[in-house]
Amino acid sequence: MELPIIFALLVMSFNGALLAELKGRRVFLWAMICLFLPVAIILLLCLPSLRRCSSCGEKVKRASKACHRCGLALANTDQRTQRPARNRPFHNS
Ligand SMILES: [Zn+2]
Repeated sequence: MELPIIFALLVMSFNGALLAELKGRRVFLWAMICLFLPVAIILLLCLPSLRRCSSCGEKVKRASKACHRCGLALANTDQRTQRPARNRPFHNS
């Protein structure tokens, strides 16, 4: 195998690991998958982002409102869905 091909596969592996980290997936597993099967990064792009439940540690979808294992209501920490501070109502009285 030629050197540029090996370099391209390593870059794809790194990109897969980075994307897996951003999506809360298994970093090493996706780095290996993208190293040997670079088109798998398309599958990774389509998978939903995950986060850990603060109560039981189960991985749940980032958009979920409650943990499917323990039923804990999950706060939405996604910055894109929060309202800007200037639109919040005041409580002066
Ligand atoms: Zn839970």
